[in-house]
Amino acid sequence: MPLKVRRRKRSLKVAVTLFSGLLPVVLGLVILYMQAERALVQSAQETAEEAIRQFELMLDNTAQAARELLPLAGQRCADVKLALREQVTRRPFVRSTNLTWDNTIYCSSLFGDYHEIISTGDFAGGQLILMKGNPVTPDTALLIYRLEDGKRGALSTLDGYHLSNVLRLIGRQTLLVLQVGNNWLSADGQFHHGPLPDFPVAQSTLKSSRYDFSVAAGFPEGETWRYMTSEYPPLFSLLIFFGVISGAIGHILQKRSRSPTHEMQRALEAAEFVPYFQAVVHGDSKKLSGIEVLMRWNHPQEGLVRPDLFIPFAEHSGLIVPMTRSLMRQTATLLGPLSSTFTEPFHIGINITASHCQNLDLIEDCREFLKAFAPGSIHLVLELTERELIEPTALAHQLFEQLHELGVMIAIDDFGTGHSSLGYLREFNVDFLKIDQSFVAMIGIDTPSSHILDAIIQLAGKLDLAMVAEGVETQEQSDYLTAHNVNFQQGYLFGRPLPGAEFISALSGH
Ligand code: C2E
Ligand code: CA
Ligand code: CA
Repeated sequence: MPLKVRRRKRSLKVAVTLFSGLLPVVLGLVILYMQAERALVQSAQETAEEAIRQFELMLDNTAQAARELLPLAGQRCADVKLALREQVTRRPFVRSTNLTWDNTIYCSSLFGDYHEIISTGDFAGGQLILMKGNPVTPDTALLIYRLEDGKRGALSTLDGYHLSNVLRLIGRQTLLVLQVGNNWLSADGQFHHGPLPDFPVAQSTLKSSRYDFSVAAGFPEGETWRYMTSEYPPLFSLLIFFGVISGAIGHILQKRSRSPTHEMQRALEAAEFVPYFQAVVHGDSKKLSGIEVLMRWNHPQEGLVRPDLFIPFAEHSGLIVPMTRSLMRQTATLLGPLSSTFTEPFHIGINITASHCQNLDLIEDCREFLKAFAPGSIHLVLELTERELIEPTALAHQLFEQLHELGVMIAIDDFGTGHSSLGYLREFNVDFLKIDQSFVAMIGIDTPSSHILDAIIQLAGKLDLAMVAEGVETQEQSDYLTAHNVNFQQGYLFGRPLPGAEFISALSGH
């Protein structure tokens, strides 16, 4: 039964629900992660641009000092010393100034006369060099700007303290370094020689367009996630909200698609409900008088499903009406072509539920059914179980009157197990009583039920109703029923329910 299928797939169902809940969260996180990475790259670039702007500004002052001093190069140091010092005092960021002649420092703002050969190849672009320190402050980095004109040269020095300050202040959250040639300066003021460090996140390096230096910016490991947790908490809540909604939708959709109603709707469309025929014989001659149509569900996985396992669901969902209609059509297609060979009206019993009697559609269904047969060749008998009585409304009366006019007969099924009154039997023009098989099973066994059977037979006789005994399995039961003038018998003794087509070929074999 499909209900079993549902239990078996429970773990899959939970997995699908979890998947549909997690999918938007995971996708959302991936998108947010990419978004955070983009934001960090942009932030690193902006920081690097800002640092470059600041450094260029500082170098402009430094370069200006060198420019003003350059014409003095070649003059005696004693004559120009003051001019050198004046530049140091006047120009922001300039720490010292020097004059060179033929690539040799001969005058310094710090020491006056001086002598040091400079190697111009060490200057990036012949213009800038970053140094670890000088004899006065060996541990404070320096950035030296060089200007030359023939043998004349001027150097102005920028204190590394200002540089590292810029790196620290601009790149609060960002790792930022200043690179000049093969040397670089970190925000802690440390001088380094060699290649730049790798920044794990959003590394970007920008070159100054005006001076020979570049700035590299980036972030430490795990910064993307840290950025997300600090910037996106409201979006996280939104993701969780979407996850819950999507999980709930996944759950509901699965529930719907696996509900008995949905599964039966599918089966109906796939024509999985098929008719089985069981013979009904005359009580005396035991000749075939007709059949009862019994529904089976030809389930693709579960095989043949008994009707008592799915009819209650079909009734509950209202699908029983289209299912019965389909069964009647299939029966008419199978038996209609044979109707001309019937020597007496052939009884065809169809089980109907009370829900099928809530409007007049049943009349049209019966009319369509009868149309498939030669006129007068069959008796269509609607079997209504006694356990589910029909309310005697005006509509119900109209329905049964019109059915009667069509020649449709009514049988009360499972008679003896419900509470139908004499009034009820008369009201609905009942033609047959189908004695429930539980009473037939008691034949030969002396129990109160066997007395009830006698009482039912007597009652039916008095009401002038024909009787069908169900569930006849033994010869003894059959003989007893024949002796008590029960008009028709049905049961395994005469044949089990068979697939419609198989029943017909067995019939023609006889
Ligand atoms: P029911 O209308 O009383 O049908 C007779 C049931 O007794 C059938 O069971 C039949 O196979 C079984 N039966 C026949 N002879 C014997 C016998 O000698 N011994 C025993 N032990 N059983 C016998 P089935 O086909 O499983 O149907 C069960 C019930 O499901 C039916 O009881 C009927 O109430 C319902 N049903 C079957 N088909 C339909 C249908 O198309 N529509 C509706 N609404 N209900 C149906
Ligand atoms: Ca029946
Ligand atoms: Ca019955």
